[in-house]
Amino acid sequence: MKEEKNKVKILNVLFNHITKNALVKKLVERVSSNQKTFLVTANPEIIMYANTDKDYFSIVNNADYTIPDGIGVIIASKMIGNPLSERIAGYDLLVELLKVGNEKGWSAYFLGAKKEVVDKAVNNVKTTYPDLDIVGWHDGYFDWESSSISDEIREKKPDLIFVALGFPKQEIWISENINAFEKGLFMGVGGSFDVLAGEVKRAPLVWQKMNIEWLYRLIQQPSRWKRMLVLPQFVYKVFVGKYIKKTNE
Ligand code: UDP
Repeated sequence: MKEEKNKVKILNVLFNHITKNALVKKLVERVSSNQKTFLVTANPEIIMYANTDKDYFSIVNNADYTIPDGIGVIIASKMIGNPLSERIAGYDLLVELLKVGNEKGWSAYFLGAKKEVVDKAVNNVKTTYPDLDIVGWHDGYFDWESSSISDEIREKKPDLIFVALGFPKQEIWISENINAFEKGLFMGVGGSFDVLAGEVKRAPLVWQKMNIEWLYRLIQQPSRWKRMLVLPQFVYKVFVGKYIKKTNE
């Protein structure tokens, strides 16, 4: 990550200490002045994966912004005595950017998910945000060696580029291609197109407020349980890391 100020380090992954409102303000400034931006929304799974893969670790820590997506990251920041401002769910930030983009007449590109999902997501976004200029979209099952998608994005120069390939693919795609573009805010958004398309439901607000959105997701998509086993390991690693640090002080 380029700016070192106001960072919180969780298992060596650097997070921006910033509220959602302040972040959106910064992003609006950057997009309005055509400053290229790479933003990662990192949850415990991403942090754990980054700790096992050096290349991915360096991608995440070299992004312009890394923000805490998931209550697990907030709990970890409290455990190490350096609490992050607030959880910023990737989906909430995506929706906020669509809203702002609609107000400002920005352009956007959607890359990822299955063809029928991204088609439906784009249709829904067009209806809800008619002044957002959607310059293109593509499903997430493309030939990685072909440059046709990045050529299209380079040519159309969208302000917002949402990449929904799941981690680590989405961050790897962005880091491999971002140098080819002049401008744009690039953000990996995981399964968000499935939510925009109405295929997957976001947890009701009470569940979100009670910080049990992960449980709702697990009930909706039980096949995710294996991925969730990483959560207790994450908490344990943060705890052990804190203990080792204390005994060395
Ligand atoms: N996906 C894709 N290309 C791939 C693998 C996954 O477009 O090669 C899409 C998949 O269809 C889904 C999203 O990436 O829409 C992954 O969602 P998931 O919930 O796994 O992501 P997370 O939010 O957990 O990172």
